[in-house]
Amino acid sequence: MHGSGPEAVFRAALREGRFLIQRCEACGAHIFPPRLLCPRCEADGPVFLEPSGSGTVYSVTIVRRRGGEDDNVVLVDLEEGARVMSRVVGIDHENVRIGMQVQGFVGEIDGRPALLFRPVAEEGS
Ligand SMILES: [Zn+2]
Repeated sequence: MHGSGPEAVFRAALREGRFLIQRCEACGAHIFPPRLLCPRCEADGPVFLEPSGSGTVYSVTIVRRRGGEDDNVVLVDLEEGARVMSRVVGIDHENVRIGMQVQGFVGEIDGRPALLFRPVAEEGS
């Protein structure tokens, strides 16, 4: 993969440890994954921005792998409004809950930079 399209910009930032989404300046939609055109209003050139990383788990699926090591696959609604597919780390898979507050960070999956989430500690627990 090379070039200067939105996917390349996104991947270059990820390698530097930054996770980016886009925002459409015409209609204000937050966009992920990166696109050339806004999926809502088709304006071109959505701009990149670095979201806060705060999000809420929208759905969670436990993936059972042969060999016994499970994984979770989550959809997270970012505070800004975009929905991203990722996984939650630092917690047992069965404890990942819909509605849980999570914080994104750039980690690694199979040696490649990737957006991951960890649970936000709940006060008083
Ligand atoms: Zn738009």
